[in-house]
Amino acid sequence: MVDFAAIRNEFPILDQEIHGHPLVYLDSAATSQKPQRVIEAESEFYRTINAGVHRGAHELAARSTTAFEDARAKVAKLVGANAEEGEEEIVVTAGATAGLNLLATAFGNASLGRGGEAARRFALKPGDEIVVSKAEHHSVLLPFQELAARTGATFKWLDLTDDGRVRTDNLDEVITERTRIVAVTHVGNVTGAITDIAPIIKRTHEMGGIFVLDACQSVPHLKVDFHALDVDFAAWSAHKMYGPTGVGFLYGKREMLEALPPASFGGSMVELAWMDQPAQYMLPPARFEAGTQPVAQVVAAGVAAEWMMAIGMDRLEEHERMLTDELLKMGDIDGIRIIGPRENVKRIGTVAFDVEGVHPHDVGQFIDAQGIAIRVGHHCAQPVHRHFGLYASNRASCGVYNSIDDIDALLEALAKVRPFFE
Ligand code: PLP
Repeated sequence: MVDFAAIRNEFPILDQEIHGHPLVYLDSAATSQKPQRVIEAESEFYRTINAGVHRGAHELAARSTTAFEDARAKVAKLVGANAEEGEEEIVVTAGATAGLNLLATAFGNASLGRGGEAARRFALKPGDEIVVSKAEHHSVLLPFQELAARTGATFKWLDLTDDGRVRTDNLDEVITERTRIVAVTHVGNVTGAITDIAPIIKRTHEMGGIFVLDACQSVPHLKVDFHALDVDFAAWSAHKMYGPTGVGFLYGKREMLEALPPASFGGSMVELAWMDQPAQYMLPPARFEAGTQPVAQVVAAGVAAEWMMAIGMDRLEEHERMLTDELLKMGDIDGIRIIGPRENVKRIGTVAFDVEGVHPHDVGQFIDAQGIAIRVGHHCAQPVHRHFGLYASNRASCGVYNSIDDIDALLEALAKVRPFFE
């Protein structure tokens, strides 16, 4: 049995009042709160072993390097990736957006002939196709749209069902032998819908394409195993999985990372540099980690990953599924429309909704006045909103620290919204 009340007590930020009410934090899809051990891990790093990694001959550098690489290994374990030296499949990035841009830039570099023969599998030319879905966060949509514009590739997308799930009934039409890259979200950040990625990955590979997963909203909430899923690349952020801001991770199958040309250039990623000859770059993951890395933050993210595994992703998911059941009851309140699937099995505890006749900003403010934090706006996913005939929505999203009482406080407040504004 996991004591979720005790887990909640690990989050100092939750122990406060907002506008005279106990804080109810339901905005974890934007960023999660951090347990005390993650907060302490950063300052402990600075207090005891702060030093540049990989290059130092001194003891502190050796200790910080070990802590950095141990953290990478913990994160790898969380997502079923290789961590052995020389086989690493986790690249440190500045976040999901940075990881997705890294990929798009690297594919663009391969399209210019960089990376030699090995990188040809990533190269795009006019007539090739890039496929995303209409559920994408702008951090997937825009880097790959730009990549299409730079290479002349055709930009296509998978449509959504009426309840906002990525459609998989017409994969043969959308993903063709000309498709080189398919980039799709694992869980929609608006709808909370879990994408049925297995058939998309299968079709992509059958057509010889590369599959990129946006795992931002899945890694914090579901047990994921990138090897079992057979994804080629996946990107996500540490700050949504109880870790620090400013850091994220890019998973790549080892053979893919070895073939991929670098996207940014500078210190710590080059084996040999000359004035009059091309540089010789390091093996992954260093090849993709130019410059000084956010070491303290990576170490703290490793602590977060270890902590999630200690709770057990199955139990964490079960707890959030129970919260989701309660959250979905908002659909029974007069005038509230859920933007996404109503069935719990197809989603996580991120529930966007529209309140008939009340602007999301008004809803957000009304709810905030009662100490409850939800998000309003387009959540960096405008096409999803257009699909539902909206410009913006309200979104409540759970984390492991939420309780049924939190959800009930929200439901109680939501029931008062329309009467208040009418
Ligand atoms: N993808 C999804 C599904 C997201 O929810 C987010 C963050 O909101 C991102 C990508 C971008 O993450 P970040 O802003 O941490 O880079």
